[in-house]
Amino acid sequence: MSTTFARTPSGTELAAGTLPDRIVPPAPEHDGAVESLSAWGFQDTAFEVLPNRSVRMTGSRYDLSGPELPAIVPWVEEQIGIEIDPAQVNLPSYPPAIPEPRTHDAFLAEVAGLLPAEAITSDAEVRLRHGHGHTQEEMYAIRYRGTIARVPDLVVFPTSQEHVEQLVELAARHGVVLVPYGGGTNVSGALRVPAGEERMVVVVSLARMNRILWIDPTNRMACIEAGAVGRDIVAQLAGYGYTMGHEPDSIELSTLGGWIATHASGMKKNRYGNIEDIVLELTAVTPHGVLSQASTPPRESIGVDSRRWMFGSEGTLGIVTQAVVKLFPLPQVQEYDAVIFPDFEHGMAFMYDMQRANAAPASLRLMDNVQFQLGQTLKPVSEGGLGAMMSSFEKYFVTKVKGFEVNSMAACTLVYEGTKEEVAAQKRVAKRLAKRHKGLGGGSSNGERGYQLTFAIAYLRDFVMQYDILAESFETSVPWSQASDLCANVKRRLTEEHAKRGLPGNPFISCRVTQVYETGVCIYFYFAISYKGVERPSEVYTELEHIARDEILRSGGSLSHHHGIGKHRQEFLPRVVSEGTLASVSAVKRALDPNDVFGIGNLHAAQTVEG
Ligand SMILES: Cc1cc2nc3c(=O)[nH]c(=O)nc-3n(C[C@H](O)[C@H](O)[C@H](O)COP(=O)(O)OP(=O)(O)OC[C@H]3O[C@@H](n4cnc5c(N)ncnc54)[C@H](O)[C@@H]3O)c2cc1C
Repeated sequence: MSTTFARTPSGTELAAGTLPDRIVPPAPEHDGAVESLSAWGFQDTAFEVLPNRSVRMTGSRYDLSGPELPAIVPWVEEQIGIEIDPAQVNLPSYPPAIPEPRTHDAFLAEVAGLLPAEAITSDAEVRLRHGHGHTQEEMYAIRYRGTIARVPDLVVFPTSQEHVEQLVELAARHGVVLVPYGGGTNVSGALRVPAGEERMVVVVSLARMNRILWIDPTNRMACIEAGAVGRDIVAQLAGYGYTMGHEPDSIELSTLGGWIATHASGMKKNRYGNIEDIVLELTAVTPHGVLSQASTPPRESIGVDSRRWMFGSEGTLGIVTQAVVKLFPLPQVQEYDAVIFPDFEHGMAFMYDMQRANAAPASLRLMDNVQFQLGQTLKPVSEGGLGAMMSSFEKYFVTKVKGFEVNSMAACTLVYEGTKEEVAAQKRVAKRLAKRHKGLGGGSSNGERGYQLTFAIAYLRDFVMQYDILAESFETSVPWSQASDLCANVKRRLTEEHAKRGLPGNPFISCRVTQVYETGVCIYFYFAISYKGVERPSEVYTELEHIARDEILRSGGSLSHHHGIGKHRQEFLPRVVSEGTLASVSAVKRALDPNDVFGIGNLHAAQTVEG
C-alpha cells in the first residue's frame, strides 16, 4: 500500500523555510495509574461499604476518596425502595472463561516479522479487555456471566504509521479482521466482536502511539498520535501553556483516536467546541489507502472532505493514526460556581437565557432534583453527612426563608474559563439571569465539588452492581422547545414499564443537562433498577433502556449526542436516517474496505460488506 502523501508528521513535504518553529515534546511519562480490568476506572479506587453501612472511596485519587460517606446507603434504599445488606455482596466472578484464540498461521508469521514479540499477545485477559467497552451489558457479562462466547484472538501494539499500514495490508491479504482500540471506554458495544465472526480477529491497540509529535505555538496547533490518552494530553499540553479543550468525563482513559471515531463531546465544548471543531486534520489508514492532507490550513474548500468520514466511523473504515488539533492558551482564569433553583424548569429557563445572552461559560450543567440529592448524600461525615451543596444554615435559608422544596430543587454548576474580562462579563450575566429565575448562589466550592464529582460518580455503577442494582447512563440531544417534555416523558415511560414488569422496588431515574447549543441541549439520563430475584437482569435492563430510547426518539430527541451507535443503538438507526443515507454510508464502506477488514459490525448492519 502506498501513502498518498509522503509527508511526515513533522511536515517535511513543505518547502524549506516555510515551516514554523515547532516544539517536539518528549514521550509522555507513565503516571503509574493502572486501569482496573473488572470495573470502571483505576485499580487504586473503588467504593466499599463499611460494617457501619457508611460508604468509602478507596485510595486518594479524588476529592471524595478517603472519608466515610454515611448518607448514601440510606438514600439509595429510600430511592430504590429496597434494603441493602452490606453482608450480602454479590461479588463478581472475574475473569469469566475465555475462549481459545483462533489463529491464522500465515498472518501470524508475517506479523512476527513486523512487530517485536512483546508487542503481540494472545493472553486471555488482555484479549478479553480489548473486546469490550463500558456498557452495563458488557460489564455485567464480564463480571457475572462466567463465560464469554467470543473475544478478540490477538492484540498487537504498533508503534508507527508504517506498522499500521503494514498491518492493514496483511489483514486484507490474509482475510483477518482488525479492530482499532483506543481506551476501551465506549458505551455502545463498539468493541464487542460479532458472535458469528469466523475470521481471526486482531485488535490494534494504539496505546504505544501516544506521543504529541509537535506543537506549533505560532499557529496554535499540535499534531498528536491517536493513542494519546486524554489525561496525558492535558498534562503535557499544560506544560507548554496550552489545552486542546476537549475534556469528556472519560478523559482519564479515553484517547484522541477514540474521540474521533465516536464523534465525542467534551464537558467544556461551549468554549472549545466538540471534537469535530477541534480536529483540523487527521491521518487514517484504510484498506483502500491512507487518508491525509498535504498541509493544515485553517479551512479549505477542496471537494468532499474524506477526513470527515472518520468522525463517527466507530472502527468500521480504518485506523486513525494521528491528528492535528487546535490549541488554546490555558485560561487566564478558571472559576467554578453553583446556582440552586426552586425546580428543574427554572434551571432550564436560566440555561436558555444564558445561551441566548451568549454567556454560557465553558461548562454549564443542570442537575435535576434526584441528582442534586445524590450530590448531597456524597458528603463526608466530617462535613455533616448531608448537604453537599449547602451548609445547615444555607439549607435553612433556602428551604425556610426562600421556600424552596427539598424534593424539587435543582442545581446548576458553572465552570468559567477565559480572560479576566471574559469571565467577569459571563459572571455578571449569570448573576442577573439567576436572579430572574429565582436562582440562589451555591458558591464556588460547591460548584467545583459538583463538577469534579462526575469523575468519582463514574465508579458507582459497578459498585452498586454488587448490591443487586443495575444502572446505566444514556444521553440524547433535543431542541430547547422539546427538552422538558422529553425528560418528563422518559421518566414517566420508564416508571410505567418498570411497574408493568413487576420489578422489585422503585426505578431510579434522574436527568442532567450537560451541554447547551443555540438550538437545544444534550441531556443525560441515569437509570437504575434493583435486580434482586430478577431473572436475566441485564437483558431486562437493556429492554427498558431501549424503551427509553424509543421514548426519546418519539419525543424529538436524537439517537445519540456523542456516545455513538456501536451495536447498542444500531436497531434504531434506520428510524433516524433515510434509506438513501444508509445506502451511501454502506457504499463508502464498500469502497474503502471491500473485504470488510474492519468487520467489527458497528453502525448499521447494512454497512457490512455482506449486508
Ligand atoms: C465514565 C464514562 C464517561 C464518559 N464520558 C463521555 C463524555 O463526556 N463525552 C463523550 O463523548 N463520551 C464519553 N464517554 C464515552 C467514551 O469515553 C467515548 O466514546 C470515547 O470517545 C471513546 O474513546 P476510547 O479511546 O475509549 O475508544 P474505544 O472505546 O477504544 O473505541 C471506541 C470505538 O472507536 C474505535 N476507535 C478507537 N480508536 C480508534 C482509532 N485510532 N482509529 C479508528 N477507530 C478507533 C474503536 O474501534 C471503537 O469502535 C464516557 C464513557 C464512560 C465510561
